[in-house]
Amino acid sequence: MIIKETGKISDGLYVIGSPAAPVYLLDGPAPVIFDGGFTALSLQYETGIKAVLGTRKPEYLFLTHSHFDHVGAVSHFKAIWPGLRIGGSGSCREILSKQSAIQLIKRLSCEGTRNFKRMNVHPLDETPFKPFDFDILITPDQTIKLSDNLTVMAVHTPGHTWDFMSYWVPEKKILIASEAVAIYENDGYIQPEFLVDFDAYRDSLKKIQTLDATVLCAGHHAVFTNSDVMDHITASLEAAHTYLMTTERFLVQEKGDIDQTVFRVKAAEWDNRSWPKQPESAYLLNTRQRVKTIWKRMKINPEKDITADIHIRE
Ligand SMILES: [Zn+2]
Repeated sequence: MIIKETGKISDGLYVIGSPAAPVYLLDGPAPVIFDGGFTALSLQYETGIKAVLGTRKPEYLFLTHSHFDHVGAVSHFKAIWPGLRIGGSGSCREILSKQSAIQLIKRLSCEGTRNFKRMNVHPLDETPFKPFDFDILITPDQTIKLSDNLTVMAVHTPGHTWDFMSYWVPEKKILIASEAVAIYENDGYIQPEFLVDFDAYRDSLKKIQTLDATVLCAGHHAVFTNSDVMDHITASLEAAHTYLMTTERFLVQEKGDIDQTVFRVKAAEWDNRSWPKQPESAYLLNTRQRVKTIWKRMKINPEKDITADIHIRE
């Protein structure tokens, strides 16, 4: 099944907030929130979490990566639940401590708020993004014991970003992969999400393919269950390959001009997509990053990837 709504998914697992920008809640003796969503949706997340937990409190919040739409409400959660322990990778923490990253997150969060306004989403939290600190540094393969029969294991899955951690709950076969898998857009388009390294992204997908998950929580829009889990991981691999081939062809035709190639990729995949969709500046940042990643890869492996004679520009 492909679930595109908020609410209960399976035993103890909930999609909270907005299907387009969810946080996930795993209820139990030590409830866990996965990811920190958009700043603008802080109040919606709070309401959704309280609807499940009542007067109980979440114990942990584990971050997959440091992007603005995955960390936005963390400081709001920490203000409501001061005992909440925030965890993520060391490199995620390092990025989120930089002023330049904080300024970028603030700027993109503001644009996100404007888009939610345009879609008449409310209530909206219009306070700017606030930075926060970590309580736990998560290392690859680390297992966090939630109770005698419930654990969360961190799975290092770089490729979207270098700081990326997926979270695997083996007892329930739940995988919080966020953008380690492709985004399943509203119109069914499969948006590959390798931003920093194509090969690492592909290897991460192959790694999570071996986990035998029956619930797969993606970063936006969809949760997959049963046979749709493997189908989406396979579709993510195929979409990444198709994106690579198409973008390599554009780069060859445009003689390595990044701006022109980004323009062509955007025209092919974003311009005609209906709202809600990723805000334009975030999409452009990501697309530029994907194109540059592919261009760098072509320069490292020219005989493998460049199918026409091309003057490689620095
Ligand atoms: Zn991201």
